[in-house]
Amino acid sequence: MIKFDVLTLFPEMFEAVLGGSITGRARTAGILEMNFINIRDFSKDKHRNTDDYPYSGGGGMLMTPQPIYDAYMSVAEGLPQKPHTVFLSPQGAVFNQKKAVELSKKDHIVFLCGHYEGVDQRVLDMIVDEEISIGDFVLTGGEIPAMAVIDSIARMVPGVLAGESSYTNESHFSGLLEYPQYTHPQEFMGVKIPEILVSGHHKNIEKWKREQALLTTLKKRPDMLETAELTEEDKAFLEQISEKS
Ligand code: SAM
Repeated sequence: MIKFDVLTLFPEMFEAVLGGSITGRARTAGILEMNFINIRDFSKDKHRNTDDYPYSGGGGMLMTPQPIYDAYMSVAEGLPQKPHTVFLSPQGAVFNQKKAVELSKKDHIVFLCGHYEGVDQRVLDMIVDEEISIGDFVLTGGEIPAMAVIDSIARMVPGVLAGESSYTNESHFSGLLEYPQYTHPQEFMGVKIPEILVSGHHKNIEKWKREQALLTTLKKRPDMLETAELTEEDKAFLEQISEKS
């Protein structure tokens, strides 16, 4: 069981995405707990404002510290230890599968979604343990990044998918991209599936999958081969390919 508390100005965005499908079912089954907390509910401003002009000038508004701090305390106060707190930010380390695996082992994660020009630095210094970015580009808010990060963590929590192989065989988990996959019919518009897949020869099929994963990675993301864990057999296969081309 893992608990996600999301601090956001737009909680309704989350139910629409994470409340259904696989994450929604896992929540109903009690494997995931997800709470979407409206920062505005904690504003002590008489107009319930949550943003103000930055002292440094420039365009845009900054999220003020008080409502965020109080929203955070509403989930953190009284716990035996500080919950791991992530700020979604274009300045953070770029998210990847390794980070998703690491975070899936935690019991409780708080996500803070910025909006507008961003967030007053003081409250970030007080509550945030790490900043995560979903890529080197800027979005209007941290809600879409939080949904992407939560979704990818959630699917590795035991019980959320049918079994471990549902995610360990996929792209990025082992440092390679996944091999091409085929379903019924066996022949579509004159194009047949690779013969080997209906051979019934388990060992040869496994070899084919590994080689196809290597080939796909070489074709689409050759940079990944520099850090992937390769066996001597993998290296020999790649050498053979480069000799041929
Ligand atoms: N002024 C900030 C800067 O230059 O670093 C950008 C603020 S952005 C317009 C508003 C909010 O969107 C951020 O506080 C953050 O929560 C979220 N955000 C934008 N791009 C993101 C990204 N690539 N990854 C994660 N969060 C992002």
